[in-house]
Amino acid sequence: MVAVRCRPLTCKERECGARLITRLVDQQVVVVMDPEDDGKAKPLGIERRRSDLAGGVKLREKRYVFDKAFDGRTDNLTLYTNTVRGMIPGVLKGLNATVFAYGATGSGKTFTMVGSSTDPGLMVLSMNDIFEHMAKETDKQWDVTCSYCEVYNELIYDLLTPSGAALDLREDPEQGCVVAGLSKIKVQSAEKIFQLLEEGNQRRKTESTDANATSSRSHAVLEIAVCRSDRNHYQKQVYTGKLALVDLAGSERASETNNVGRQLKDGANINRSLLALANCINALGKRRKKGFVFVPFRNSKLTRLLKDGLCGNSRTTMIATVASSAQQYHHTVSTLKYADRAKEI
Ligand code: ADP
Ligand code: MG
Repeated sequence: MVAVRCRPLTCKERECGARLITRLVDQQVVVVMDPEDDGKAKPLGIERRRSDLAGGVKLREKRYVFDKAFDGRTDNLTLYTNTVRGMIPGVLKGLNATVFAYGATGSGKTFTMVGSSTDPGLMVLSMNDIFEHMAKETDKQWDVTCSYCEVYNELIYDLLTPSGAALDLREDPEQGCVVAGLSKIKVQSAEKIFQLLEEGNQRRKTESTDANATSSRSHAVLEIAVCRSDRNHYQKQVYTGKLALVDLAGSERASETNNVGRQLKDGANINRSLLALANCINALGKRRKKGFVFVPFRNSKLTRLLKDGLCGNSRTTMIATVASSAQQYHHTVSTLKYADRAKEI
């Protein structure tokens, strides 16, 4: 599933007189108006009058269709209910699932994934839901563990412990790709998770760039592993389902930031992971149509890490986040194009 979320203008944008250039049609279509159109683009929700068209004003609009589209009035719970919630029963049965937030810096990825204490994001809401489901099936034995790590500069760091050292990615014949030494926390309730995520996010590597002062240069991956065993049976059956929720690094291209030295390398590596992800998504889309196609999972740490949650019978949801202001037009269009390609999976 590919969904798009258009965030509202921020207070700062409104103060600067920013113009809204996105609107939705039928909760599935995102229409983006070219800000250089004619300077007469109308704000969200107001359709142009026919006379505008009759007067020879050429509309330069781009339209993209997705499984779901959400506007600035959508809160995290509504977004969750319409996207990720449907994946939870599968995870409890032992299937894998992955959720991405993809978009430029400042478009609302962290807002969507982590959220705030008053409007918790998809990571927290998924956890809540998992616990609610478990409480209903008391005849089974449940074991939930979480890990939270970041991929920065093609290196993996634990976000739940302050150790600071980069961790190795290893292939395990039974478990697939595992991060050696990554802490796994047993979680008993959903309340703790928001606090853990907040603490973890404080440890994320952020680097100030010309594009955005608090631009996040890393991919953050929360993995929730749900282990279920039927305790009533003579023969114990164990199923493990994994849900990965990923707050990707800003999708803006390195060339757009006037970076030098270490930060330039950051940009290159971020592109490498996002490019690798795009290539895997493309290949998976072709595989679906044509049968076997080689999928280059090994090209980046991110795709190696997420492999299990992307192929086989796992379910993937991408939430593409876009800012709706005219200044972000190019980012918005490139995000929507990327998301459009992801629909093929
Ligand atoms: P990103 O993680 O993609 O860089 P953030 O999630 O930090 O972006 O969002 C940037 C700013 O926009 C923050 O101030 C955030 O509170 C605000 N914001 C993002 N999405 C929304 C939304 N859907 N509704 C209201 N405010 C939002
Ligand atoms: Mg962020």
